[in-house]
Amino acid sequence: MEKIEKEKAIILDRDGTLIEDKNYAYKIEDFELLPGVIEGLKLLQNEFLFFIVTNQSGIGRGYYTVKDFHKFNNLLIETLKEQNIIITKTYFCPHLKEDKCDCRKPKTKFIDMINEEFIIDLNESFVIGDHPSDIEFGINAGCKTIFLTTGHGYKHLDDLKSLGIKPTIISDNFFGVAKEILKFL
Ligand SMILES: [Mg+2]
Ligand SMILES: [Zn+2]
Repeated sequence: MEKIEKEKAIILDRDGTLIEDKNYAYKIEDFELLPGVIEGLKLLQNEFLFFIVTNQSGIGRGYYTVKDFHKFNNLLIETLKEQNIIITKTYFCPHLKEDKCDCRKPKTKFIDMINEEFIIDLNESFVIGDHPSDIEFGINAGCKTIFLTTGHGYKHLDDLKSLGIKPTIISDNFFGVAKEILKFL
C-alpha cells in the first residue's frame, strides 16, 4: 500500500501572535509585526505549511468591514512574502461569541477545512496563539500548542491555570518558539 505523505502545519493566530494587537487590528497605520516573527517563520518554513486562523469579531460588531479585514490582512501577507515567507491560506471568523457560529475558535471547523484540503498530520502540527481559546482550539484538533505571552497572552496566563488548559510550550518570544518547535522534528 502506498503511504500518503502528510504535511505538517503551523496554524497561527494573527493578532497578538504575528502582529501587535492594538485593540482590533484593522487600520493600515497600526500594522506592526511582533519581534522575532520573520526570523522564526524563516526557521520553520522548510518543514511546515503556514496558515492563519483568526477570530475577527470586530467585523460582527461593525467596527470594520470584511473588505477592511482583507486589505489589512493582505498587507501582512505581502510583507511576509517580501521575506519569502508564504502563508498558504487565511481563515477568519467574523462572528461574535453570542452568534454561536461553528467557526469561531476554539471550534475546530477551520482546522478541519485545512486538513481536508491539504492532508495534515495534526499530531505533528502546532497551533500558536496568545489567548486561551487558541490553545483549546489546538488541543481540540489534536495539535501541539504554544501559548505566547505577547499580545494579550500575559494577562491571560492565570486564565490558563484556572481553566486547566495546558499548552505544550509557553513562551514570550516567537523566535524562541521556532527553535523549540525544531526540537520536535
Ligand atoms: Mg490573538
Ligand atoms: Zn464564526
